[in-house]
Amino acid sequence: MKNEILILPGDGIGPEVINEAVKVIQLLKKKKLINSVIRYAKIGGNAIEKVGLPLPTDTLKAAKSSRAILLGAVGGKKWDNIKDFKKRPEYGLLKLRKSLKFFANLRNTIFYPQLLSSSIKSEILSNVNIMIVRELSQGIYFGKPRGVVYNEYFLRYGFNSSNLDEKAIRRIGIIAFELAKKRKKQLCSVDKANVIEVSMLWRKIITELSNSYPDVRVTHLYIDNAAMQLILSPNIFDVIVTGNMFGDILSDEAANLTGSIGMLPSASINSIGQGLFEPCHGSAPDIANKGVANPIATILSVSMMLHYSLQKPLLSKFLNVAIINVLKKGFRTADINYTGKNLVSTKEMGNLIIEEFEKLI
Ligand code: NAD
Repeated sequence: MKNEILILPGDGIGPEVINEAVKVIQLLKKKKLINSVIRYAKIGGNAIEKVGLPLPTDTLKAAKSSRAILLGAVGGKKWDNIKDFKKRPEYGLLKLRKSLKFFANLRNTIFYPQLLSSSIKSEILSNVNIMIVRELSQGIYFGKPRGVVYNEYFLRYGFNSSNLDEKAIRRIGIIAFELAKKRKKQLCSVDKANVIEVSMLWRKIITELSNSYPDVRVTHLYIDNAAMQLILSPNIFDVIVTGNMFGDILSDEAANLTGSIGMLPSASINSIGQGLFEPCHGSAPDIANKGVANPIATILSVSMMLHYSLQKPLLSKFLNVAIINVLKKGFRTADINYTGKNLVSTKEMGNLIIEEFEKLI
């Protein structure tokens, strides 16, 4: 693995938000606080335009040898009608995640009191800081057999399999316990063990693992209750660990707590320490090339990169503080400008954060 950061701007607002996030990496390089080499490559629709493939061989090769990958977003109307899924932009991203065997997805939902933008009362949201750890490699999204066939009554019949082995549960459980150990020492495991066998196994393995982490308080919730509690009392959560589909749903629900999808970063990691860092939002074609996209989710993704991949937790903290300071001063991109504060463009928000960050490092 080389000491390289691969930048994949992608489509739509991807290049705009990536530009701002890369400024952080360049500043750290200039100050000699990191010494990674930056490389760029194509993915998604722009790669289809250039070489006819959403994940060109060169991009995959560069990704495999990089320590960290920073990705904007892929997709757009231009490619929506491509019938062959393997030629669509989104396939490029799925293939990248699969090829590098990213098995854990971390999404950190933080409520910023400066943003009274969420549809939930601010008293309920105060102190919300939830890390959702989602198993990415198995479960119903990948399970076989799957398909739609005609049954004996000539009715169309759809079926999927939710497969999960104990190695995968243990592996994601360890990531979650280790994170909880460094945070508030609270882990909530989410399953549907009252109905589904895979969930019964999940609960058993997480319970077994908890014996090795006596200082972490473990609770178990069924997915339906967890979805309700996330809205009713989100601050009871610290780290949540769950499978692929439940994690997908809960993390989108949690996105609402931050006020805008433009505020939510993510990290995916594999077993050899490589990381893929990306905002949770898509390519937002409706606002692309207008200079209005919120770059904070992508800048927070760099913060996660500093923490989880480049082992610079202090720099990661300073970057988070820089963002909070800019919000405290009242600067807002359009998506979070609910109360008529100082409206700024993508670029201006990036520059303000850099200015603040430079004062701290
Ligand atoms: P989206 O996340 O792109 O946009 C949803 C809404 O949120 C839009 O109104 C958009 O303007 C807004 N939004 C998103 N990011 C924002 C930001 N940073 N600042 C301000 N507003 C923001 O989801 P979508 O509209 O469902 O999908 C658009 C395209 O993105 C599709 O082609 C889809 O396949 C693709 N997509 C890609 C990824 C990815 O690359 N990881 C994820 C989801 C969707």
